[in-house]
Amino acid sequence: MSIKINNAEAIPLKIPFSIGLNKTAKSGGLDWPALEILLIKIESSEGIVGWGEAFNYSSQFAALSAFNSMIKPLILKRKIESIPDFLMELQKTIHIFGRYGIVMHCFSGLDIALYDIEAKQKKIPLYKHLNSNSKKTKLNGYASLYRYADPEIVKDKCLESIKHGYKYIKLHEINEQEVKAARDAIGDKIPLMLDVNCSWDYKSALNISKKLKKYNLYFLEEPIFPPEDFETLFKLKSKIRIPLAAGENCYTAYQFNQMIKYKAIDYVQPSVTKVGGITEFIKIIKLTNKNKLKLMPHSPYFGPGWLANLHLITAFCPSALVERLYVYEEASLYKDSTNPAKGMFSVPNDIGLGLDPNLDVIKTYKVNY
Ligand SMILES: [Mg+2]
Repeated sequence: MSIKINNAEAIPLKIPFSIGLNKTAKSGGLDWPALEILLIKIESSEGIVGWGEAFNYSSQFAALSAFNSMIKPLILKRKIESIPDFLMELQKTIHIFGRYGIVMHCFSGLDIALYDIEAKQKKIPLYKHLNSNSKKTKLNGYASLYRYADPEIVKDKCLESIKHGYKYIKLHEINEQEVKAARDAIGDKIPLMLDVNCSWDYKSALNISKKLKKYNLYFLEEPIFPPEDFETLFKLKSKIRIPLAAGENCYTAYQFNQMIKYKAIDYVQPSVTKVGGITEFIKIIKLTNKNKLKLMPHSPYFGPGWLANLHLITAFCPSALVERLYVYEEASLYKDSTNPAKGMFSVPNDIGLGLDPNLDVIKTYKVNY
């Protein structure tokens, strides 16, 4: 089957959310009062609508402009026989403007929307389209907590997450006292992860990691800056006895291959709205399996990218954990159907991504730049 693109639209949404405290969250150094979702809506010549999502916290207008001015003119009226071939052609066509970052986020949204259409053409759920042997199953999730920088709040949020049924918790703290507060609050049996978002240099990472050893971390995520310094990451990994995770700032299977070659990590963290969509994600899964590493996808988002991640995990790696950003949204594109039940998630079973976004929510939260 082929897809002819009749129409393409990027729809920016801002849905207010709270971190459960009387202060506004921050992202990219800016206030972050709303979840920015850049929907990519593709309509095929037979009238099938596919939905994708481009990663865009704090960069929504830039991603919207990139899609409208650089990508849309290249894809309108195109007939696509193979999504991976088409995406590779686009990567080659505009590589001189920057391989990674916002352009690749937009490619990711486009790729997800095209896969949604392809599975809808076949009238099967996406996970079945990706792997006909796969079965719908319950997936373990983890509460991905905001950085509160306060041991008391960390303790409260950890206990609240457990009350909501989560059996795994990830902190975004950068100091020992919050990690201690979390471990003291949850006891020894709940696996605890720590993501420091590249906050340390090598020396600090080495020093702090030694102190963190006693908290039995499931993994330590993105300990050093810059994220693509795989050589230093490997050096750190060889000196500390805590498993390392990274990948949310890597793009395409090509860059993941570089990271994996350095033996820099234990857990591989592709983000489907960033890496180049489902096409690149599948290649990254193959690399992960080939090198006997573990997949731990990045998915702190709430649109079609969230659904695509559930389908990919269901299709290829159902033992991977699902990252759920622990925030309170004012409205959801998918009502309650993607919320955790006892800390677990399952993929919606309808055709394509399984759910289309709620058009009233789109109308209410659409941003007019
Ligand atoms: Mg992270």
